[in-house]
Amino acid sequence: MTETILRPSPISASVDFSAEGVQHGFLRLPYSRDDSAWGSVMIPITVVRNGDGPTALLTGGNHGDEYEGPIALFDLARTLAAEEVTGRVIIVPAMNYPAFAAGTRVSPIDKGNMNRSFPGRPDGTVTQKIADYFQRELLPLAEIVLDFHSGGKTLDFLPFCAAHILPDKEQEARAFELVKAFGAPWSMKMLEIDAVGMYDTAAEEMGKVFITTELGGGGTATARSAGIAKRGVRNVLRAAGILKGAVETSKTEWLDMPDGDCFSFAEDGGLIEPLVDLGEKVRKGDVVAQIYPIARTGAEPLEIKAKMDGLLAARHFPGLVKQGDCVAVLAI
Ligand code: CA
Repeated sequence: MTETILRPSPISASVDFSAEGVQHGFLRLPYSRDDSAWGSVMIPITVVRNGDGPTALLTGGNHGDEYEGPIALFDLARTLAAEEVTGRVIIVPAMNYPAFAAGTRVSPIDKGNMNRSFPGRPDGTVTQKIADYFQRELLPLAEIVLDFHSGGKTLDFLPFCAAHILPDKEQEARAFELVKAFGAPWSMKMLEIDAVGMYDTAAEEMGKVFITTELGGGGTATARSAGIAKRGVRNVLRAAGILKGAVETSKTEWLDMPDGDCFSFAEDGGLIEPLVDLGEKVRKGDVVAQIYPIARTGAEPLEIKAKMDGLLAARHFPGLVKQGDCVAVLAI
């Protein structure tokens, strides 16, 4: 068997992960380009360490147009004191920083989708180089990994925290304990439609306790969704024994995505009329939305029917849909 020897990451950290106290700095990735010959991508990072204990790796901006995570993590980075911590907290509010700075889901540099780029490559595109740094440098430091998501510009979600069903039931149980502690209004046993290359999968395959969120969407945040994120991240750190104090418990409703019947995709594009709003219950066969062809009047709309009983957990956000768009996600 030939062994692939990977070169070192081109990213250098201006923080020392083993140092005590609070450090604010950057992950610096050299990026030579027309407007900056010896330029860099500068990804903000905060490390808070106080003695021995577990490490939590907290990330937002994996997709650049999802805002609850960055809001909660810029806030936490600014306010977390070393004395409150036992162990270490590594905070990267905007993992795909070029995408975050541009307000886009994927990187404007290479069109890289961070959550389809793992394990990444040290000699790849900018997005692949960032993924590789998380894969080989940051994930191995952590026991607990929280990666914030929301729907971005094209989806809107009920606010939930989530983990995946895993082959290792102990790892799975620890993840769902943290989902419960996060205390979002909904908690989800999540099914992925496209798990290859995901950060989630990379962390889980390394044996990490991985949780994620979907906290809203539409390319913005609300006071409510930002509040859920800010409270949730502190609750997770408390439940992990990293942050002092008790978890602020709150009522959560558990949801499950049992199989692919959860998802509905548009077979034609057009103008979408929602007939059910987020959180509303539906029966199998109910029409959850209809899509009008926009090229002419008088044509019948395409009906999007629920393939199972459940409630609407996510929906397409913009008023026009394209063929192939995910228009509705149900959960039970
Ligand atoms: Ca996302």
